[in-house]
Amino acid sequence: MARRPLVVGNWKMNGTRASSQKLVADILAGLPGNSPVEVGVCPPAVFIPEIAQSLAGKSVRLGAQNVADQDEGAYTGEVSAPMLREFNVSLAIVGHSERRALYGETDALVASRYAKAIGHGLTPILCVGETLEERESDATFAVIDKQLGAVLDLSGVESLKQAVIAYEPVWAIGTGRTASTEQAQEVHGYIRGKIAALNAEVADGLQILYGGSVKPDNAVALFGQPDVDGGLIGGASLDAKSFLAICLSA
Ligand code: PEP
Repeated sequence: MARRPLVVGNWKMNGTRASSQKLVADILAGLPGNSPVEVGVCPPAVFIPEIAQSLAGKSVRLGAQNVADQDEGAYTGEVSAPMLREFNVSLAIVGHSERRALYGETDALVASRYAKAIGHGLTPILCVGETLEERESDATFAVIDKQLGAVLDLSGVESLKQAVIAYEPVWAIGTGRTASTEQAQEVHGYIRGKIAALNAEVADGLQILYGGSVKPDNAVALFGQPDVDGGLIGGASLDAKSFLAICLSA
């Protein structure tokens, strides 16, 4: 099956109302009419309502940087999937390494967030990836197994028909150090193989994105790998020109 490439910008906690509006306007202006590449942006939650207006009727998908593991109630600081759906959000990053490392999100919590996204018709972008220490101790595949396993145990392999996986080696995020094409393909192939052992059709249709210091000058080679179906872009997604160049590489 030919998988459609997907490139998603994760703006993290950056920008202002004005700069985020300009960024989205510049992205819309620069994307070709019927782009073969699917494009998404994940602004800070507080900017979602305005960005949703700018994206109304456009092909660029709107994403959230996280989603609550509950629908409503006494969960200070969280934003639920039904709330996001009110603003036409269709993507939700879950398990980003910054959430795991800085805010203590466990595999179990990430799996619950993922399940809520699925249950409310959002497409979760499930981030998985190893630290440098884990890679150097040959634990990369074991880490992926554990992170993916928590989600598969709770939601099942069929849920991946509605999900995207992002392989993001922690040592490559925001560091300027990118995985080599071989390193990226090796883990992407491993993930697809693991899913294929459970359900070949799901594995074949699954978009697996690479994330970690993707820039216009390394995107073509990374996206050219057989199991790399696009990217989750941090730093370079804050600059419309760089982001568009990456989108056009996919
Ligand atoms: C990310 O945070 O998902 C990411 C890939 O960041 P960067 O592109 O800045 O490494």
